[in-house]
Amino acid sequence: MSGTVIPVQCTACGKRYNVAADLAGQPIVCRQCGEVFLAEPAAVGDAAADGSSPRSGNGRQVVLFGLVGIIFLAGICIFLAVHIRQQVRATREAELAARRAAVTEAGRADRAHSSSARPKSVSEKPVADLSAHDLWQAFGKNGMAADMAYRGKILIVRGSIRNIEADEKGNYFLGLDAVEPTASSPGDTEARSHWKTRWSREGYPPNVICFLDPARKLGFKALEAGNRVAVLGRCMGLKQDRQVYKGYVVTVEDCTLVTDAQTKPHTRAAP
Ligand SMILES: [Zn+2]
Repeated sequence: MSGTVIPVQCTACGKRYNVAADLAGQPIVCRQCGEVFLAEPAAVGDAAADGSSPRSGNGRQVVLFGLVGIIFLAGICIFLAVHIRQQVRATREAELAARRAAVTEAGRADRAHSSSARPKSVSEKPVADLSAHDLWQAFGKNGMAADMAYRGKILIVRGSIRNIEADEKGNYFLGLDAVEPTASSPGDTEARSHWKTRWSREGYPPNVICFLDPARKLGFKALEAGNRVAVLGRCMGLKQDRQVYKGYVVTVEDCTLVTDAQTKPHTRAAP
């Protein structure tokens, strides 16, 4: 007997045998069913018979692992997608919130502005129509009476423009002359001699400061120093200012330019 055997399988009943390798290719008879079949070295046959199931088992395992892997990867992808989307949404919401806040802020500023500027000058009637000189003098003579009469109220102030400038915050104002450059100044002397000398040389700084309504400042662009104007605005009272004559100015805010048609309707209406 040769040591080598080959596994064969009956083609009819499937019974497996191990036969001597010499018999390979020879017809043999199946002991179980009597079928004659060629002893094909179906080495594969037996091994395959045994191996086919592990193989398919392996295949199944591979498929299983593959599935698990795919599911796992899909899970990661979904997790990442959801996570990223949340992140994006959070970012977008934060941006939106910021924008909304900015808009609200702007709206509030707008409203504050319009409520502080518009109704004031449009709907409220001026309580007085006076010269810059008279307004300034009133605060100098009796501050309390002037406060009662003018502070916080809408006035028409007339005067000659000394300068048109912007303050340190960029707010434009008209400086109106309240004092004639030649005016004598009894009683206000020694300590201020430096300024007085300068003023007598350069002219007095304006004592009535009219801040322009930012929304309507363009109405003032054609004006220049020396022009006589009438402005409508809210008197804010006296403000100390050492560098001007008598040490104080009177400020008026949200000023708009007044035309004669607006200020003298009665004289025209009455024949
Ligand atoms: Zn057989």
